[in-house]
Amino acid sequence: MTDYATLRPYLISQLERGELTFLADYPLSSLCTFRIGGPADFIVYPKTERALISLVEFVRSVGVRYNVFGNASNVLFDDPGYRGVVIFTSELKSVTISGENVTAGSGMSVTALSVAAYRASLSGLEFTYGIPGSVGGAVYMNAGAYGGEIKDVCISSRVYNPDTCEIEVYSGNEQRFGYRESVYMNSPLIILSSDFRLKESDPVEIDALMRKLMNQRIEKQPLDLPSAGSVFKRCEGYFTAKLIEDSGLKGMTVGGAQVSEKHAGFIVNKGGATASDVLRLIEHIRNVVYMNFGVNIQPEVRYIPAE
Ligand SMILES: Cc1cc2nc3c(=O)[nH]c(=O)nc-3n(C[C@H](O)[C@H](O)[C@H](O)COP(=O)(O)OP(=O)(O)OC[C@H]3O[C@@H](n4cnc5c(N)ncnc54)[C@H](O)[C@@H]3O)c2cc1C
Repeated sequence: MTDYATLRPYLISQLERGELTFLADYPLSSLCTFRIGGPADFIVYPKTERALISLVEFVRSVGVRYNVFGNASNVLFDDPGYRGVVIFTSELKSVTISGENVTAGSGMSVTALSVAAYRASLSGLEFTYGIPGSVGGAVYMNAGAYGGEIKDVCISSRVYNPDTCEIEVYSGNEQRFGYRESVYMNSPLIILSSDFRLKESDPVEIDALMRKLMNQRIEKQPLDLPSAGSVFKRCEGYFTAKLIEDSGLKGMTVGGAQVSEKHAGFIVNKGGATASDVLRLIEHIRNVVYMNFGVNIQPEVRYIPAE
């Protein structure tokens, strides 16, 4: 049974000590890029790694459910919201650069990180410029774009393991990166910071590549409407967005959710979309694509049930 009787005083005491800030009964729709989701019981922003770890230890000790997010740009929150504690890492945004090595806190925006790397004349993160996620979310998802992937540059991550109460380091093959996959998925591990190995390069060339990739995003993606990016993963031998477009689904609408008229791989929130609209549209797209092409497309966006 959820023990909020001790959770609330704990949060208030940590707030008073300057360890965190929190919101109670607050709509997730205002905190994610899809602009969908009902109220979470508690939304917490720990200010330090230590505060994050203490919070996780506490919520586990009182049996309260929790989940850790970066910028909530790859998630679909539920219509009834979230029963438990939603933790955002946004305050953990340190960056240190030493030669060609960059270490970034999990809450750092990857776009801001790519700009920091450019300013240090370091190449390798240009592909992340424009991805609206955090370092932790990008490492968790092995985010990628335009031929680049996090796995190409992320050499290790420091993580908190709530099962052992230890900070551990995952490096090399231990991060088990695959296409939109990592060891962190379906595990209790919380990414605290990640190390990237970049290459010294001409800042003019880095800047030119970043601008080129950003222009491609602006040209191809429906950035004027709320979304969670590409809804489906790439599938072997096919362009998923083309399968959807060739199925005649571009522009198809369920409630406020629509298959983007600009990019069929995106579902956009045209206004007032609910999680159930999006889930129904995803199911419909998957069925139609399967009927037309025999291809079973898989969602990339992570649905977070209310309980
Ligand atoms: C307009 C738009 C364009 C996009 N373009 C791209 C693109 O080009 N390429 C691409 O790959 N993605 C893209 N995305 C999707 C998304 O931005 C990426 O997947 C991003 O890496 C997610 O980061 P996040 O911080 O928002 O993660 P969140 O959405 O907050 O979380 C995603 C998952 O990671 C987990 N997680 C987050 N932080 C941590 C942590 N510190 N420790 C453990 N688990 C954690 C969460 O629990 C969740 O399961 C796009 C999205 C939008 C809206």
